[in-house]
Amino acid sequence: MTSLSELPIRDDLRGRSPYGAPQRPVPVALNVNENTHPVPEDVAADIVARVAAAVGGVNRYPDREFTELREAFARYLGHGLTADEIWAANGSNEVLQHILQAFGGPGRTLLGFAPTYSMYPLLASGTGTAYIAGTRDADYELTPETAAQQIRRHDPDIVILCSPNNPTGTPLPLATVEAAYEAARGIVVVDEAYAEFMPDGEPSALTLLSGRPRLLISRTMSKAFAFAGARVGYLAADPAVNDALRLVRLPYHLSALTQAAALGALAHSDEMLATVGQIREQRDRLVSELARLGYTPHRSGSNFVLFGGVDDPHATFEALAERGILIRDVGIPHHLRVTAGTEAETTAFLEALAALGRPGR
Ligand code: PMP
Repeated sequence: MTSLSELPIRDDLRGRSPYGAPQRPVPVALNVNENTHPVPEDVAADIVARVAAAVGGVNRYPDREFTELREAFARYLGHGLTADEIWAANGSNEVLQHILQAFGGPGRTLLGFAPTYSMYPLLASGTGTAYIAGTRDADYELTPETAAQQIRRHDPDIVILCSPNNPTGTPLPLATVEAAYEAARGIVVVDEAYAEFMPDGEPSALTLLSGRPRLLISRTMSKAFAFAGARVGYLAADPAVNDALRLVRLPYHLSALTQAAALGALAHSDEMLATVGQIREQRDRLVSELARLGYTPHRSGSNFVLFGGVDDPHATFEALAERGILIRDVGIPHHLRVTAGTEAETTAFLEALAALGRPGR
């Protein structure tokens, strides 16, 4: 058997680990921040019909410009956005990869604020971009001053702000986005993968787009839309940014089936997003119940909660996994992260955790 280290792999990929959230078949999977509610049956039927129609034409390449889909995303996002300001790809991971391919690369840098989404350094290494792990304030907050000061110090080509932040759940003040943009010479990406779970009326960074051509807002259908398996992410930005992304995308990167499925889901966006309210309730319940059990949950604007006060995260993770409940050890000492599931799943998690007691206390 050949080992990886024997291959003539790029030097900068040697010793790296791939993205590896455990995928285990368990009854209660609350580990990768999916929407655990299935797609409503009538919506699923319409999506199947649209995909079936698209199969009739799969002898031809799909619309390389995914025009209808860009129009549908512009309508969904509102804020006066038009189709030429929209980009999309196979998950927001691919959107972010396109951004790094176009604006990062050898000799260039990406600044993120740790702890943050674990794919940022991996996407950087895959594109030969140097990743700089910036820091946060107490309780994982990120004030305008803290962000701007580090941007001025590192002068990165790309800054990525995760709003709300994964894995901490921390909402990001719009003032921080504004300050980051002012301080940055290069591209500022706001990753709003979890935006729909923010409290109603809380403005998105989309409100800042006008007049800021270096500001890019990335979104996904994987979370609130309950569409993770379809792999659809998208971006709102100046049309010139999208022209830059056209230079690096593979031709026909969004399959006709993906485009048809995403259009079907967007045609039913109200129904697809109907579970968001229930998920927020379960998130708030997690925060209050975890505190009652003696843990220290962090404030969350997303569909998951990071909680501290765990003596041995690995042991707790494994003990829950043995009981059929998968959550996430994100590598922060004494912390674990749990996704808000259905009411029954959330109850199963809380009861199992309570039954474990507090090891060592
Ligand atoms: N950004 C953040 C902050 C995420 O947590 C995730 C998924 N875990 C993604 C982007 C990527 O999601 P997807 O590729 O499914 O759109």
